[in-house]
Amino acid sequence: MNKAESQQIVGYLDSAGYQAATSFSNADLVVLNTCVVRQSAENKVLGTLGLLKGLKNKHPKLQILVTGCFVNSHTQELQKQFPHVDLLFKPGDYPELIAWGEKQGIPIEQRLLRHPRNDGWMAPSPCAFIPIIQGCDNFCSYCIVPYRRGREVSRPLEKIICEVEELVKRGIKEVTLLGQNVDSYGHDLPGHPDLADLLNELSSIDDLARIRFLTNHPKDVSLKLIDAIASINKVCEHLELPVQAGDDDILKAMRRGYTVERYRELVHTIRRKIPQISLSTDIIVGFPGETEEQFEHSLSLVKEMRFNVVHMAAYSPRPGTIAWREYQDNIPAQVKEERLHKIEELQASIAGEINSQLQGKEMEVLVEGSKGGKWFGRTRSNKLVFFEDAGDWLGQLARVQIEKTSPWSLGGEVKK
Ligand code: SAM
Ligand code: SF4
Repeated sequence: MNKAESQQIVGYLDSAGYQAATSFSNADLVVLNTCVVRQSAENKVLGTLGLLKGLKNKHPKLQILVTGCFVNSHTQELQKQFPHVDLLFKPGDYPELIAWGEKQGIPIEQRLLRHPRNDGWMAPSPCAFIPIIQGCDNFCSYCIVPYRRGREVSRPLEKIICEVEELVKRGIKEVTLLGQNVDSYGHDLPGHPDLADLLNELSSIDDLARIRFLTNHPKDVSLKLIDAIASINKVCEHLELPVQAGDDDILKAMRRGYTVERYRELVHTIRRKIPQISLSTDIIVGFPGETEEQFEHSLSLVKEMRFNVVHMAAYSPRPGTIAWREYQDNIPAQVKEERLHKIEELQASIAGEINSQLQGKEMEVLVEGSKGGKWFGRTRSNKLVFFEDAGDWLGQLARVQIEKTSPWSLGGEVKK
């Protein structure tokens, strides 16, 4: 979501005539797009704000804007705390950004420029991120997102289709639809269109090759959606389905709204209907009170489910959340580290085995860019693939024969 919002801010600045600077020290304007989902991310924001304060002392004309989840409802207090910041605006509050720009005499056009031109702002890519629903109504006990991004608001279906059509005209081949819970899409719109309806509509856009979306909530994934993924060819066989924990008592304390058994049944249904599906998940270790045995339940679920990717994090208490109010963060940092390490090791061996089965297979790769003399891109199952070739493959759908595999990426030879 932050990447998508950064792209959009860059689009606005690009249309106002700004160009990318190579570093903070030679910039006229810095926009800090922040994340505070864990304390470590918030610490980075505070460190960067300190650095920018020093720079502003030296160059008083430097303008500093701050957005993202760091910006809470108490903007006036934040403004007092960080007087060197010129504007604090909530995530996605572009009218606020535009109004500020107008006051400064910056002619920011309000036009669709989510994907900026390639003049140094961002590497060109055939992939775009499209927010479809903002906010979250779920209030998982550990999570700060609903407090910072507010309640769910879906974007009208026609607006999303129009935006994707426009992007495809400009060369975009793959879109990733974004939401904290994409399964909630449309419940607040007239006629209640859902994600499956949106996928159906988007699939009829010629020249759009692939559609992805994230994140799904295990309590809300519908059979209609599973059938849509199975039947619409442009929808990639990849799902982000965060389980967060493998123990029912911890899931209850997290307020996730499902049990391990219900998650297991959902995964079985998905795998029965879409045998080639690749599944990723998120797991939090060291939630308050998590015993060794409860943690072992998360480990065995990872072993049983054989996910393609596991994003893992140590529990970080977020002021204002339910877990912060109700539970003590009583798992020592060292124990959290050890638990992270155990899951990491297990997952590396599982991903290594899954990927080694792809050796010798030919896969479709959408080429996103080049790094260190190699082209890279992703398979429909979201696996990162590298290959070397003298041709220009950017934005092409290449057929790559897999020759090398590791838990994290694949390497191969392009077929011509
Ligand atoms: N909406 C998605 C869901 O339902 O899982 C995820 C959104 S959340 C912003 C991204 C990930 O950050 C979560 O899946 C969770 O694993 C992690 N996360 C959120 N709050 C956390 C916390 N307080 N401590 C550690 N990890 C956290
Ligand atoms: Fe946070 Fe839960 Fe909403 Fe995901 S579903 S954003 S974890 S509150």
